[in-house]
Amino acid sequence: MRRQKFGSAGATTSVIGQGTWYIDHGDRVAAVAALRRGLDLGMTHIDTAEMYGDAEPVVADAIAGRRDEVFLVSKVLPSNASRRGAITACERSLRRLKTDRLDCYLLHWRGQYPLSETVAAFDDLIRTGKIRSWGVSNFDAGDLAELVSVAGEGKIACNQVLYHLGERAIEHSVVPWCEAHGVAVVAYSPFGHDDFPSPQSKAGKVLQRIAMAHDATPRQVALSFLTRLPSVFAIPKASRAAHAADNAGAGDLSLGEGEIALLEQAFPRGPEPRSLPML
Ligand code: NAP
Repeated sequence: MRRQKFGSAGATTSVIGQGTWYIDHGDRVAAVAALRRGLDLGMTHIDTAEMYGDAEPVVADAIAGRRDEVFLVSKVLPSNASRRGAITACERSLRRLKTDRLDCYLLHWRGQYPLSETVAAFDDLIRTGKIRSWGVSNFDAGDLAELVSVAGEGKIACNQVLYHLGERAIEHSVVPWCEAHGVAVVAYSPFGHDDFPSPQSKAGKVLQRIAMAHDATPRQVALSFLTRLPSVFAIPKASRAAHAADNAGAGDLSLGEGEIALLEQAFPRGPEPRSLPML
């Protein structure tokens, strides 16, 4: 499993990680086993959020006894992201995750509280050792520039954004901005949430052909394509161990320039939208 530096966090983590949205909705034992299988295969970056229902307790079970292996990320809801509220929310997440620290803590999306308040809370959480770094999610390049003017350079570890074969909008401004400022880009919903290209579609056939050439699966090719840029990580969610194992296989797959060009053509970037797409 390829690992790389996680923005300004100063840590390295797996390029392919594990998402947990809706992981609490099915068979809990299977979900815990899937996350643990992912850890066994090097997908040590685990993403959760206070918004994801009972996902945090599922993660707690999965990382029990293995906390030091994990790069653990959770998120505060914008409605809790005040100076005091973000601290309380983080402490609540730590209790639910049965741990004493997060490796990175994110503002889930921009809300009503001034960024300065949230940043002050994050700085406090760093001082007290409850988080090791902080970042944001669903920020466009303008939001990021404003955040840097509040927090200073070198403080934002990551920006977690929607990125999959059918949605490449972040390549226009967000990725270049993040690369210029040392901010990791984390691709969420890398399989389009539930909208992976069908093998019958024209673009799906391109994916299939490239996968066959590598003895890989189309999902592995998709993850490898998304993480071809040096600043990008991906966090597919799998609630079955077999899916987790499949996804981990992408961590060692590298595509040739010609294959990347074919995928760029099959899944065109399109023009830059007015606002950043999000789920
Ligand atoms: P996703 O990862 O794009 O897709 C998940 C779906 O793909 C599930 O149905 C899963 O099935 C299936 N799957 C996974 N691996 C597979 C494989 N190898 N073969 C076949 N099917 C496979 O969707 P997502 O959950 O929306 O996004 C991933 C993570 O990003 C989330 O869980 C969350 O942590 C994060 N996220 C963040 C935000 C944000 O605003 N910051 C928004 C959305 C998501 P099974 O579950 O049955 O295995």
